[in-house]
Amino acid sequence: MDAKPYNKRRHLACAKLLLKNSDLQSLRHASLELRYFLEAHVYERLLKDADQLPKSIIQKWEPNKAMKMLSMFDKLADMDLKLTITEHDGSSPITIQYNNIKNSELTKIYNTLGSYLHLPQPSKAQNYHINKEKLLKIFDTIKTLIQGNLIIIKTNYDSFECESCHQPILFTTWYVTNNESIICQNDSCKVEHFIERYDGGCRFGSKIACTCTCGAELEIFHSQFKIGQIIKCSSCSVEYRVNPNLLPID
Ligand SMILES: [Zn+2]
Ligand SMILES: [Zn+2]
Repeated sequence: MDAKPYNKRRHLACAKLLLKNSDLQSLRHASLELRYFLEAHVYERLLKDADQLPKSIIQKWEPNKAMKMLSMFDKLADMDLKLTITEHDGSSPITIQYNNIKNSELTKIYNTLGSYLHLPQPSKAQNYHINKEKLLKIFDTIKTLIQGNLIIIKTNYDSFECESCHQPILFTTWYVTNNESIICQNDSCKVEHFIERYDGGCRFGSKIACTCTCGAELEIFHSQFKIGQIIKCSSCSVEYRVNPNLLPID
């Protein structure tokens, strides 16, 4: 699996051509090409990191999700990078300054472009137009993503097994030090795991500790816990119903 099927430059070139025009069709088409450009960029980034990411996971990510994941995990998302190269004695320094485009900013642009791909709401349909100035500005901002001296620092991904669906859940050190919980990235699961940090590491937990009369641990997840819910013991098949049971504090 490599990044070759994606060709950022082609989409950017198409957008540039279309932006010479001012009619609605051309601007709409330009928005689409700019969106393809961002998608190609994100897939390229992810595939570059692929050796650390379970491939089976990213292969199924749709562009929207890939965008979200990248801004969620990238510790450099909010940083401008500065690289200084000097002689051994520290003399004649050369500084490379790279103004990073935040991944959160990319996501915002991606959504703005997406909004141009729909028909306008009836209340706005009469005078609908796409702001060409805004599109040109977006073009200028994101075209830097093809410049060669872009500094990308590898993000170290790690994963743990979801306690519910048993699929790997991805995380980065940056993410776990800045968040209290993480949601399973399997769209049909989405069970929330709480992050418990300790010296030199962290633990993830999604279950409420509860034991069946047979001694087996019950599968009760914090994020899916509901009054009236039926819980079946996987060991002895006894069923329980979750009932409110308030105890007065003495
Ligand atoms: Zn899961
Ligand atoms: Zn049981």
